Amino acid sequence: MSAHPVIVAIDGPSGTGKSSTSKAVAARLGMGYLDTGAQYRAITWWMLSNGVDVNDPAAVAAVAGKPEIVSGTDPLAPTITVDGTDVAGPIRTAEVTGAVSAVSAVPAVRTRITELQRGIAAGAPAGIVVEGRDIGTTVLPGADVKIFLTADPEARAARRSGELRGTAPGAPDLAATREALIKRDAADSGRTTSPLAKADDATELDTTELTLEQVISWVIGVVEDAGRKQPRS
Ligand code: C5P
Repeated sequence: MSAHPVIVAIDGPSGTGKSSTSKAVAARLGMGYLDTGAQYRAITWWMLSNGVDVNDPAAVAAVAGKPEIVSGTDPLAPTITVDGTDVAGPIRTAEVTGAVSAVSAVPAVRTRITELQRGIAAGAPAGIVVEGRDIGTTVLPGADVKIFLTADPEARAARRSGELRGTAPGAPDLAATREALIKRDAADSGRTTSPLAKADDATELDTTELTLEQVISWVIGVVEDAGRKQPRS
């Protein structure tokens, strides 16, 4: 492994195993972990809580600098607060999930959150695994390792549906989950500013047929290889 703090960017759509993989890789390699989706969810939660019309980009942009969002980067216990309030639960509601793509498409929101992300990555003494949609392309284009996870929509919907059933009573059924997920991917991939995209120099892995443990081992292998090939002091 190289001597400088290693930065690993893991991008891809939802339901590819990105969060579980990123957390486990960070924990096993003794690195920090940043869930950038949680930050976009947190600012969306704040907009909804303050009566901002999330479908009015000008209204969202006007207040994008107001909430103070703080992310804790321990992979074993990641945290997220807005103005000091723990929002880890509220940011996972269907209401936030349904509004987050509109809020995250607003350039002023992306500028604000991207700055936050770069600061956190630069200040991670043991390196960090950062997961999101535009980390390898825009937020940290100089990351030591860039990975893009994919999986077919059926597999992604099944995973997301399983997660939701585990955490939210009365969660939507598989078909509704699949539909919402495809709609959100289309919005995230189609937006003008910093869309969901694979960086040209990212390594892609299709996780459809793989177990979580297989994906984790593969990512750790890529990170270790990169450390061996590019020693820096
Ligand atoms: O990863 P998660 O599903 O929690 O992300 C929620 C939303 O946050 C995404 O659908 C996307 O709109 C936005 N997002 C983003 N850029 C990132 C991470 C998430 O626009 N780097």
